[in-house]
Amino acid sequence: MRVFICPVCKSGFQRTDNSYKCENGHCFDISAKGYVNLLLSKDMNAKLPGDNKMMVKARTDFLSKGYYSHLAEEMSKAVCQCFSGGVILDAGCGEGYYTEEIYRSVNKLHPDARLCAIDISKFACAAAAKRFKGNKSCETAAASVFRIPMADESADVLVTMFAPFCREEYLRVLKKGGFLIMAIPAENHLFSLKAAVYDEPYKNETADYNIEELGFCESRHISRTIFIDNNEDIKSLFSMTPYYYKTGVEGHERVNSLKSLETEAGFEVLIYKK
Ligand SMILES: [Zn+2]
Repeated sequence: MRVFICPVCKSGFQRTDNSYKCENGHCFDISAKGYVNLLLSKDMNAKLPGDNKMMVKARTDFLSKGYYSHLAEEMSKAVCQCFSGGVILDAGCGEGYYTEEIYRSVNKLHPDARLCAIDISKFACAAAAKRFKGNKSCETAAASVFRIPMADESADVLVTMFAPFCREEYLRVLKKGGFLIMAIPAENHLFSLKAAVYDEPYKNETADYNIEELGFCESRHISRTIFIDNNEDIKSLFSMTPYYYKTGVEGHERVNSLKSLETEAGFEVLIYKK
């Protein structure tokens, strides 16, 4: 039986080489890219259909150069500390850079660990699934974090990084005693990039870390200054941010003219226990 469940009738799946099939005959093909599409048409009405092909490529290019490796390391460390076996869910996995790093670390301690990664973007899923090709312990599905195709209390650790936050659904799938590990941008994250683009840059808002019904364990602040010496990477970075679509022509021209950039890459890693 797989960790993912049928999004139509909620029953368990049997997996063959190229499909997931439930006992009621609902069948979902595994794409040639290696992920299963469990999105129903009602999931597609979301305002944010997820990253497009260009954004996924920009993200992969940028992250592969290690600019955010400190975050990958801290997330891996946090997951290893909280996980004692079972299932890890990466809700909103993107192109899978962090997912792969986390799995690699966890696998050394728990060879039986199972990992489920979901993202609403099919392009992101294709990129993430490629990282886990041939690994039966890791499954990738196109699915919404607002309707996770997993049974109640089936995840031991839930990882969410810069993804939309859906409290009810996260509480539903997380086991009692399980951990939710979240990464959010710190107050100073990318401030110098914003200062280069906007006349009046603002710091990121720091949120109230309390989540109803979850116990707050700890927050870890990690920060480094990154130096980017080429415009290609600066553009990739900019396209990864929420500002990309909110910025006017003048702002984009400023980004396009930046030859180098020194900026803060700061994050908060927050750990909660159910
Ligand atoms: Zn079904």
